[in-house]
Amino acid sequence: MLIRFLLIALISFSSLVTANKSDLVITRQGEIFKDFTLGMYEDSSASLAFEEIKQLKEFIPQTNYISRGYSNSVFWIKFKIENATKSNVNYFIKFTNNAIHKFDCYIVSNNGETIKYQQGVGYFTPKTSNPLVSPEFQVYLNSGESKTVYFSLFSIYPNFTSLYIFDKKSLNNYVLKYDVLYSIYFGGVIALLLYNLFIYMFSREKSYLYYVLYVSFFLCWQLQTNVFFPFNTYSSTASYYTHGIFIPLFIASLLLFSRSILETKKRLPKMDRAMKTIAYLYLILAVSSLFYLHISFIIINGLATLIMPFILYVGFKSYFSGNKVALFFIVAQIVFLSTSTLFSLMTDGYLQYSLLTRHGIVVGSFIEIILFSLALAYRIRLLEHEKVTIIYQSNIELEDKVKERTKELEQSKNKLKELANRDPMTTLYNRRFLCEISPELISIAKREKSPLSIIVFDIDKFKSINDTYGHSAGDQVIKTVAKLLQKTRESDIAARVGGEEFVLLLPNTDKQGAYKIAKQIRKEVESLKLQVRSRYTINFTLSGGVCTLLSDEDTDIDQMLHRADKALYTAKETGRNKIVLSNLD
Ligand code: GH3
Ligand code: MG
Ligand code: MG
Repeated sequence: MLIRFLLIALISFSSLVTANKSDLVITRQGEIFKDFTLGMYEDSSASLAFEEIKQLKEFIPQTNYISRGYSNSVFWIKFKIENATKSNVNYFIKFTNNAIHKFDCYIVSNNGETIKYQQGVGYFTPKTSNPLVSPEFQVYLNSGESKTVYFSLFSIYPNFTSLYIFDKKSLNNYVLKYDVLYSIYFGGVIALLLYNLFIYMFSREKSYLYYVLYVSFFLCWQLQTNVFFPFNTYSSTASYYTHGIFIPLFIASLLLFSRSILETKKRLPKMDRAMKTIAYLYLILAVSSLFYLHISFIIINGLATLIMPFILYVGFKSYFSGNKVALFFIVAQIVFLSTSTLFSLMTDGYLQYSLLTRHGIVVGSFIEIILFSLALAYRIRLLEHEKVTIIYQSNIELEDKVKERTKELEQSKNKLKELANRDPMTTLYNRRFLCEISPELISIAKREKSPLSIIVFDIDKFKSINDTYGHSAGDQVIKTVAKLLQKTRESDIAARVGGEEFVLLLPNTDKQGAYKIAKQIRKEVESLKLQVRSRYTINFTLSGGVCTLLSDEDTDIDQMLHRADKALYTAKETGRNKIVLSNLD
């Protein structure tokens, strides 16, 4: 309130200083008045009659640019106009804002004769069409004649307007220039609107729809305030005011558009909920403005001054969370925010009515609408890029998966192979593996001229262990022997080749070395005490035959096995529990 008072005081003071003459003197044909001083009186009781006003001396000087915000007062304007030319003139007083509820005009001649005109949306009668024009009033002046002009302005909308004084020709020029500039603006906006509407029709992407809604409602508002088709005729005063609905509607769709372009649902869920709620609130306000215009508009305008910076803040948040598109949004919002703030400050009476404060919003919104459209276009590019990245990434992932799967297959293949090579009961190698691996070991031994020996073991009297203690006790014996055989060097190959027959293939080991190892094992087995069926402790023995590779004669392991078997047979024949060296090599 204080700021408002100070600003008004400042404006009034500056008007006083610049006030030169409150009488307008036409000194030549076609002279126009776009900057002049007039007298202003605020009737806050809104009850004074014209006859009372005429007697008043308390008119305060002020410029022809008027902005007094929301008010219940009637504002009276007074100025004198004089024709100092040699000919009679026909002049027009043109108001730039059509949203003033009532313009009452009194033109008083020197002889006291008064002509009264009434214009403004407040005078619309419920008939088929009332043309809305920005109000203009005619003044006829004979050569040398002067007249005093009074206006009373009353509005339920914010009070802001300027008034210019033209002759017929300059009035036409002014209207033409105004219409051409606004037509260019509307043409541009409609082009962007259609472009994005078509994209929406084919893509069904919601952000385009919100854009189209936002721009449409904004466009309707601008068409209406600047009196363009189809918002230039109304059936009544009430029907004029229903069109205020475009303001809450464009704010609601701006919020929805912002949500989608800033990806708030994904990036900023809390703010997303707030924006959604405010958007719905504006939709409610849009409906309530049809019934309670005045109070609804105070809320709509008041909230808007908080929401616009909030949307900008969300824009920054979204940008810093990695949304590149938000940069377009931020710039657009800054441009629109600054021009619309100037506009609001002017309509609320804090700033003077001027080209910048009145029409800056048009330029600001145009830049904003272009930047929003660019943001949508840029997003397509980003999405395209993202898609390529995703495909590339998934290809890499697929490749890795295939590699991993191949490795797993390889491993299970190896496992299977290993299983096929082993005897399941003892996990020693089986005969099949022994036959498979031996040719290689033999050829290495021959090439390197290194010894290669073999021991064949057979458990003694095994049948009787089975018979006495049972088959599972026999199995236990077999497993015990297997464990002992596994304790030899890593390069040795221990295999179970028959029921209770084992083979140790020993690379780099000569006959004596093998013999020593065989004897060692025999000794260990002999000293074992094995508990079976948890009741009996049994001893058992084994016999072994040892032979070594004959490089010049042996071609495969069977020859060696044969000689070792023969030696084993001798061991069995000569009393068992002994190791016999083959006498054939
Ligand atoms: P020798 O001292 O002459 O070798 O006498 P032996 O009783 O051990 O004679 P032989 O080698 O002919 O006997 C082998 C027996 O081993 C025959 C079979 O019943 C038994 N056997 C073979 N495989 C298994 C097995 O996996 N588990 C058990 N418990 N017994 C088996
Ligand atoms: Mg046997
Ligand atoms: Mg045996």
